[in-house]
Amino acid sequence: MALILDGKKLAQTMQAEIAAQVADFVAHKRVRPGLAAVLVGDNPASQIYVKNKRKACEAVGIESWLHQLPATTTQDELLHLITQLNTDPAISGILVQLPLPKGIDESVIIDAVSPMKDVDGFGPESLGLLTAGYPRFLPCTPSGVQQILVRNNIRIDGQHVVIVGRSNIVGKPLALMLMQKADGANATVTVCHSKSRDIAAMTKQADIVVVAIGQARFLKKDMIRPGAVVVDVGINRTAEGKLVGDVDFAEVKDIASAITPVPGGIGPMTITMLLHNTLRAAILQHG
Ligand code: NDP
Repeated sequence: MALILDGKKLAQTMQAEIAAQVADFVAHKRVRPGLAAVLVGDNPASQIYVKNKRKACEAVGIESWLHQLPATTTQDELLHLITQLNTDPAISGILVQLPLPKGIDESVIIDAVSPMKDVDGFGPESLGLLTAGYPRFLPCTPSGVQQILVRNNIRIDGQHVVIVGRSNIVGKPLALMLMQKADGANATVTVCHSKSRDIAAMTKQADIVVVAIGQARFLKKDMIRPGAVVVDVGINRTAEGKLVGDVDFAEVKDIASAITPVPGGIGPMTITMLLHNTLRAAILQHG
């Protein structure tokens, strides 16, 4: 039976560390880090995500504001709000909850967020700096994946990591992060996607497999080698309403050496890294 990599517990530990750092920052700078959350439309999952992120902010002493806009909001109206938030000195970080309603070009909105307030790490400047090897804000989910491995003393250095999924918010930045010439990285990385041939042949060669594709229970036990470490980023709801990952946890846990559960794995880590980035933004802005 694999070691369960408990993201919920680690998130609590790391959030306590962040709360202490926030208190120290407030004591020295006399300003409180603040996160502006922008929610457009009425996607129920997005509403829950934003609520959880704001609750976590409150728990660590980060101020948060919610800008809730109707689904009929135009791209220009949203851009106007982003411009206001970019120049508001009380706001350290801006979070635009995705997906945005049809008719709004996500890339235009992501590009409009000030690079110094891009706490999601999705913007071109954040990704460019990461690619160049001196990141400012690491995207939260890949950063959560790296932290759960590092904090559980799972070696990444020199290991072969196979990532299934190449999205701009998970797979692609994670590959860049884990191949960095840096502590907690230095991996040999292979990235697979929907056009890859024979994904099992790739994942079977991995020391660490990360799955981020949004396909319930995609990774089966015959797709990994015994003793591999398995990280499940996926969040899927089954027809019965159960929350499951991209890994068939019930069978893979018997062959992996360590595995993240869903829920309670990468989800809470993602929120924690958002708090980390918001504090970092405040530090960068206030010296
Ligand atoms: P996207 O839909 O943006 O990207 C999915 C990626 O998976 C694409 O690269 C796609 O390939 C690839 N893919 C899809 N199906 C297959 C397949 N059968 N075989 C191989 N590759 C495949 O998803 P996200 O990256 O945004 O999210 C992935 C999952 O992670 C989702 O379940 C999402 O809910 C979850 N998630 C969880 C977070 C958390 O906090 N725990 C945060 C963010 C996401 P191609 O590029 O060729 O289309």
